Parts: sequence; structure tokens; C-alpha cells
Amino acid sequence: MSLLRRGFKTWCENAARGYRRELGLEPFAPLDPRLLASKLGVKIWTPHDVPGVPPASLRQLTKTEPSSWSAVTICVADKSLIIINDQDSRERQNNSLAHEISHIVLGHKAAQVFVSSTGQMLLSEYDRLQEEEANCLSGTLIVPRDALLSFLAQGHDHARVAAHFGVTKEVLQMRINLTGVGKQLANRRHA
Ligand SMILES: [Zn+2]
Repeated sequence: MSLLRRGFKTWCENAARGYRRELGLEPFAPLDPRLLASKLGVKIWTPHDVPGVPPASLRQLTKTEPSSWSAVTICVADKSLIIINDQDSRERQNNSLAHEISHIVLGHKAAQVFVSSTGQMLLSEYDRLQEEEANCLSGTLIVPRDALLSFLAQGHDHARVAAHFGVTKEVLQMRINLTGVGKQLANRRHA
């Protein structure tokens, strides 16, 4: 069952509209999370930008297990910094960045990074509600409901709509389900 409070989805749609306006984008335009991060003063690094990461850990993160992590947010002197796995596809990076930016926008406490004596990074996690909120906001930021409905109603196929927004087909499908847009279109067809 969803933990989201009533009205949260609508709040997210309004936020997505507001950020597009602030960035000078059309309401249905794709939103590059990197632009939004820069607007919000959030830095984005790759593992290679992190000073003092031991070469063995860097190899572990980028070569041995590149798919074991996507992004992490850390807080340094009140500034949020996202470290993104640049081995991921552009679409996956967009999703990960939007997710991390959402945690920041929502004021969730950034995950703490501890470096153990053996040089391993240990991360504290966000709680379930915070994860659900971040997923909802990030999905809405990159694929707003109105735009999704409009493109699908015009008959564009999923691959094309996913490419427009710069997301994976899985993220697009998740948005179609979560927004109820799929159902709405099916009802229209049968009306
Ligand atoms: Zn998260």
C-alpha cells in the first residue's frame, strides 16, 4: 500500500510545472536533471571527481561492480553533492539524478557516508516513505502526467515517448501505471 499522503501526487505535478517554468522550458519539454541540479546549486560528480578515493575502491565502483549502485547524495558543509555512476546509460543516469534531486528538494536527510577502516563506503538509507516520495517526485519531474497523456493520446508509441523524455521504457511504463494514464486512455477508446 502506498504511504504517500493525500495530495502529494498533485503537489509533485505542480512542482514539475514550476521547475519547467523556472528553467524556461515548455510544459511538455523534457527536463534534463543536470539543468535542474545546476539551478538548485547541487553539484554532480562522478567517482573520478571524488578526491581521495583509493584506486581499489574506484575500480570496484566503476569496473568490477558498475551496476551495483546508481547514485548517492552526500552533504558537505550544507551543500548537497550527488555522485553519479557514469557507467550507467544516459537514461538511467537521468532517473538516478532526478531521484537524488527529489530527496534534496523534499528536504530528506541526505544519506551519510562513512568510510570504514578497510576503506569501504557504508551508506545509511532513507526510510520507506522518503523513498516513495522521492520516486513519485522524480518520476513526475521527468515525465509529467499531462505531457504523458497528451503524447500517448496522439498515438506516439512508448519508445518514442521514452526517447523524448530521456527515460528508459521501464520508467515510462511505471509512470503510465502510476498516473492512471493507461486506464484513462483505454476508457476513452471504449467510450
Ligand atoms: Zn532514494
